[in-house]
Amino acid sequence: MSASAATQTGASAPGREAEQAALERVPHGLYIAGEWRPASAGGTLAVEDPSTQEPLVEVADAQEGDALQTDELALLMTLEMGKALAESRAEITYAAEFLRWFSEEAVRVHGRYMVNTTGKGRILTMRQPVGPCVFVTPWNFPMAMGTRKIAPAIAAGCTMVVKPAQQTPLSMLALARVLEQAGLPGGALNVITSSRSGAVIEPLLKDSRTRKLSFTGSTEVGRKLIAQSADQVLRVSMELGGNAPFLVFEDADLDAAVEGALLAKMRNVGEACTAANRFHVHESLADEFAQRMAERMGALKVGRGTEPDTDVGPLIDAGQRAKVADLVSDAAGRGARVLVGGEPLDGRGYFFAPTVLADVQPGTRLLQEEIFGPVAPVASFATDEQALRAANGTDYGLVAYVYTRDLTRALTVCEGLESGMVGLNQGVVSNPAAPFGGVKQSGFGREGGFEGIGEYLETKYVAMSL
Ligand code: NAP
Repeated sequence: MSASAATQTGASAPGREAEQAALERVPHGLYIAGEWRPASAGGTLAVEDPSTQEPLVEVADAQEGDALQTDELALLMTLEMGKALAESRAEITYAAEFLRWFSEEAVRVHGRYMVNTTGKGRILTMRQPVGPCVFVTPWNFPMAMGTRKIAPAIAAGCTMVVKPAQQTPLSMLALARVLEQAGLPGGALNVITSSRSGAVIEPLLKDSRTRKLSFTGSTEVGRKLIAQSADQVLRVSMELGGNAPFLVFEDADLDAAVEGALLAKMRNVGEACTAANRFHVHESLADEFAQRMAERMGALKVGRGTEPDTDVGPLIDAGQRAKVADLVSDAAGRGARVLVGGEPLDGRGYFFAPTVLADVQPGTRLLQEEIFGPVAPVASFATDEQALRAANGTDYGLVAYVYTRDLTRALTVCEGLESGMVGLNQGVVSNPAAPFGGVKQSGFGREGGFEGIGEYLETKYVAMSL
């Protein structure tokens, strides 16, 4: 029989049975979050045998909403924290990247073998887990601030108790479920939610089994926890508040500076420790920069984070919104010009209009305090020395942003800045492969990068004579 005749007549009877069995054994539904389910509208799509043009079987035909089922973690985060869904999705990816990065680092924990100074002895070093850890995390990045600690701790072999902020417990609980499903042994990760943080955390820090505290939050609470950690002489990592300067020099690419400024200011509704808190712009560009920022910030859509066209969600609570409003009126009272926004929005929810202030005077509280909201104060400078002095004139030292096209100036300013991180011609520094952390009252210790796992390891040295 010729090949073309075989194609037309199909398989023999036993062959057809085997074909039918194979087609029936394969699932025909959508596989979402570990479950098989039909498409939401019940639709199906036919799979055709190209040799006979006959339909083989029908499989589920997904609608747009079916694909979005996988977005539940982002949706939860937007519901409890308020930011736009696109930002929550980005945070889920960022948070997951810490798990990937540290799973790769876990197999690179190494020691060394070397000759000592007498030439007769040998030195062996090994790195071992610090031991049980206590983690306290904030509400602004409820998932990523968790995985940035949990992932290196697991990789190093530590157990942990995590306490998320009371405003955003859901993301951490959902993360714990994901890690449980992924096979993390029971007891390795413990999550406690509470409205009485101080009362719950202090006994844990005084318990002799605890060996490390890692905290992300305000400098004020960080100070208290450092003091409490002294009793047990705990290893401590502190990721605290910021007051990031954003410097635009006269040779900067202004288009790039405005794009970077929007990212650095408006990511997470301005509620980020890395948020550009104050814009110091060379006097030749300050007016144009402020005008362009005002146009862009005024065009942003403020709304509930779940609405598809929302750019800017609400602030976290009434207290935060009142603080932002207070800082803006203080600046306006000292002669700053409100170019756009400047007020809370009417109606329900803690919304505040994206705001740009020009001619902000030295000594204004906006320049000295962490704003944590969608407000961009623009001040000007005349010389590089003035810019650097203004940038460093704060107790904080988490991150600074620098826009210049001059290589010598870029390196001189980067070296002179008193901050743990610098965004050079870019408005975002956060990256799981990079060491995140601050100096001065922004804290100590690093999360992410090659350094991140070191926070969870002790070095043991063994002396040997030959
Ligand atoms: P926060 O008030 O310091 O709270 C942070 C965490 O500490 C929350 O879980 C909070 O729980 C808990 N907490 C409060 N008082 C405590 C106490 N006496 N003992 C033990 N735990 C206590 O800060 P936040 O307002 O949530 O977060 C905003 C701050 O975090 C900003 O300053 C921001 O710059 C900083 N932050 C820093 C980084 C960084 O990497 N450097 C990253 C993100 C945020 P309850 O709220 O439930 O009481």
